[in-house]
Parts: sequence; structure tokens; C-alpha cells
Amino acid sequence: MRIPVREVTPGCETAEICGFVHEVRDLGGLAFLLVRDRTGIIQVTVPKKKVAPHIIDAVRDVSRESVVRVKGTVRAIDKAPGGREIIPEVFEVISKSESPLPLDVAEKVPAELDTRLDSRFLDARRPRVAAVFHIRSAVAQAVHEYLFSAGFVNITTPKIVAAATEGGTELFPIAYFEKEAFLNQSPQLYKQMMIGAGFEKVFEIGPIFRAEEHNTTKHLNEATSIDLEMAFADQNTVMEILEDLIVSVYRKVEKDCGPFLEAMELDGFSVPKTPFPRLPYAEAIEIAGKKTDEPIRYGDDIGTAAEKAIGEEMGGHYFIVDWPTAIKPYYAMPYEDDPSICRAFDLMHPRMELSSGAQRVHQYDLLVAQIREKGLNPESFSFYLTPFRYGMPPHAGWGLGMERLVMTMLGLPNIREAVLFPRDRHRLVP
Ligand code: ATP
Ligand code: MG
Repeated sequence: MRIPVREVTPGCETAEICGFVHEVRDLGGLAFLLVRDRTGIIQVTVPKKKVAPHIIDAVRDVSRESVVRVKGTVRAIDKAPGGREIIPEVFEVISKSESPLPLDVAEKVPAELDTRLDSRFLDARRPRVAAVFHIRSAVAQAVHEYLFSAGFVNITTPKIVAAATEGGTELFPIAYFEKEAFLNQSPQLYKQMMIGAGFEKVFEIGPIFRAEEHNTTKHLNEATSIDLEMAFADQNTVMEILEDLIVSVYRKVEKDCGPFLEAMELDGFSVPKTPFPRLPYAEAIEIAGKKTDEPIRYGDDIGTAAEKAIGEEMGGHYFIVDWPTAIKPYYAMPYEDDPSICRAFDLMHPRMELSSGAQRVHQYDLLVAQIREKGLNPESFSFYLTPFRYGMPPHAGWGLGMERLVMTMLGLPNIREAVLFPRDRHRLVP
């Protein structure tokens, strides 16, 4: 029976393993193979005087990255990885790899990101790359665990929709029989409708589609959003949930992903401290104005340069709160005493925005008025607006980018490193 490479210890007598051929070395009287599965690497040593000739031939001929099965005696040996080696009695090439390889899995030759993404299946065989996606999986698990234990209900909303969430041009039109349709840019309207349905606490982890033309290191055209909506809550309640969730995700990764963090050779992993500072928008642009040459005025959006300047000043995660109503979506709730600012927030990592959220407008008339104010037509939102006429609890929520969360957590230079098969302006394959 095959066992994982990690379970082959110097104390085993015999073992059978399967995996990819990581490296082959022929030193005359002795041949070495390194065999890799998802749990580790093991040395297979072939002393030519002691091993059957057909095995020697097979080992000599095997190409790197072929899939092999090895069964044999285990010996303790200091110099090999894990302090053990296998002397094969059975050596079978299950699936031969062609050579040369389009990408060097053993990482002797560094490759450009584009080359790596073209051969992602090979790239992801590299332990430091695989580690990113094992950690991403733990992040998803941690989010589910946290939200389920806090009583949230997992929902799935449509990705093919008839109307834009916020209007605007960031939409991919698709052919949907004889109708005009789009890929959804956010589950916003649907999760709010489920508040209208009385679910009170809902979340979804799913794809969002944004037709952003520009290529940046933090934008994808298909991203994954962790979305949450909660009834009878204001922006402060959901900000507390958000920071608590972030910390519990980091803790889970710290606790369960040690070997993966090691494989990535990360030196900077640390769990952020809460509470995250709450920085009013007005103060944020003042910092940006002092620290950058780009002029920034009250009412401007906070662009990349400003984001960077404020991030340097803040040093860790922080919230920007109390945004001008004019630059947040129509569904953000204005303050009663000063409707020019609203109960919206962004969660920021020093490198970039991670999440946007707000207490939402739950009053039908106000919502219609705000939709009009943005120059949009309420009639194209009637499916969304109708639930607000039949009893809508006050509510708040946020959307958190999964890729940006993983990217900032692991210090990845490019968001494409946090997606298996990224979609960007130029990349549709694989
Ligand atoms: P940005 O201003 O940085 O482009 P945004 O304000 O347009 O982001 P939101 O609509 O607020 O994004 O979406 C909520 C979250 O979803 C963002 O904070 C981000 O983490 C993630 N997100 C949004 N668009 C993208 C994208 N194109 N690629 C990757 N993640 C995204
Ligand atoms: Mg945002």
C-alpha cells in the first residue's frame, strides 16, 4: 500500500511511495532519485551492485517529473532529506513525462510569472507555489468556520444578472438567449434581498466579475469575494466582525499551516493586532496630502498613491470611516445629522484596500432618491427595490477580496500569485 512520503521515517523497514521524479543523478556506481509527493521529498538510492539490472535501467532512463511507484527497504541516512532513503525492489514508471519541461519544477531556473502561469500545472508542483494554495484553502476553511459558528447562513446568488450592481462600465455583457445579460460584479443586491427575506445573517464566497481595462498588480477580472450581510446591525458591528474574522484567519494559518509557511520561506508572518484604528476619511486625505505630491481634495477618491502614503503612516491594518456620501454607492447609509457623510468604511492593509462595507439604506424612499442622485434609473432596479416596500430590517455588511487577503497575508508581489488560473486583460487561457 502506498503511503505519503512524509510518513516514511528512518524507523520504517519497508515502504511503498508514489510521486513525481524531482531530480535524477547518476554517479557511476550509484544512482539517486528524488521523488516528490504533496507531503515531501524522499531520496531513492540505487547502489548498482545490489539492485536488479532492470531497475537500474529504468532509473537511468526515467525523465524528470514522470510519475513513479517505488517500493523497497528504508534505511536511515543523515545526508538525505528527512534522514532516510529507499533502496528500491520495485520501480515502476506509471506515467512518463516528456522532456524538456516547459518549466523547471526543481526551481534551478527562475521563471517569469507569465511563463509560470502558462504552465500553471507544473508551476503548482513547486512546493513554494503549492503552499500558497494550501494556505488559501485554510483561509477559506477559517472563514467558513468563523461565520458558521457566528450563526451566518451560507447562500449562493446568481452570477448571470440583468442589471449592474452600481451602474457603471465595469460589466461583462454576455449572450443570454434573446436578452441582455451580464456577469455579476457583486452579490450586493442579492444578499440585501435575503435580509428582506428574513435570513438576518448571510454570507457567500463566490466569484465577482469586473471588466477593468487596466492591468495592475491588485486587480483581476475574475476575483473571489467573501461577502457578508447582517440585519439589525450598523457599520460598527460588521467592522468588529470583519477585524475579528481577519485575526481568526491569520491565527488558523499560523496554527495549521506551519510547513507551508516554511516552504514559502516567509519571514514576516504575524497576526495583526485588534482593534484596527478607525481613521476618518477627512483625516486620511490630510495625511495623503502631506505625504504625496499629487493634490488630493475632500471628495476625491483615495487612489493608489494616497493609499500607499496613508498605509505607511498607519503601519498596519486600519479602517477608513465616515466617507463622503457622494463617492460611495447609493446603498450606503448617510448619517442622520450630516447626510453629506455616510456610514461606509474601507478596511485597508498598508499595501491596498481589502474590503468595503457600510450600513445600508433600508428606507425605500431614501434608496430610490439615492439611486436617482447617482444618475441611475430606479426602474432597472425594481427587482431589488420591491423587497424594501414589504418590511426591510436595518442592516449592514461588507465584501472582502479573497485574493487580496491572501496576497497581503503572504506578502505576494502580484495578485495573480494568489489565483490558480488568473483572468486579466490578456489572460483567458489556461
Ligand atoms: P479598488 O478601488 O481597489 O479597485 P473597489 O473599491 O472597486 O476596489 P469593491 O467594489 O469595494 O472594490 O469590492 C470589495 C472588495 O473586493 C475590494 O476591497 C477588493 O478586496 C475586492 N475586489 C474588488 N474588485 C477586485 C478586482 N478587480 N480584483 C481583485 N479584487 C477585487
Ligand atoms: Mg471598495
